[in-house]
Amino acid sequence: MLEITVDMTKCQHYGQCVFEAPNTFRLNDDDKLEYTATAVDGDEELIAAAADVCPMQAITFVRV
Ligand code: SF4
Repeated sequence: MLEITVDMTKCQHYGQCVFEAPNTFRLNDDDKLEYTATAVDGDEELIAAAADVCPMQAITFVRV
């Protein structure tokens, strides 16, 4: 399992992560980022891609 953290002091709600991993990241009705704090190992590539494209480098994750 993966544990995901977004540093909300860095996140500017651009939403690039949403395109990469829509099962984990979403923008709510106020265009603010919401995310699921855990993901299955099989989603690691998607989460890594989301972390990669984040212009604020706000996404980190660890395998637990
Ligand atoms: S890509 Fe980064 S800055 Fe943009 S919404 Fe996702 S976590 Fe926030």
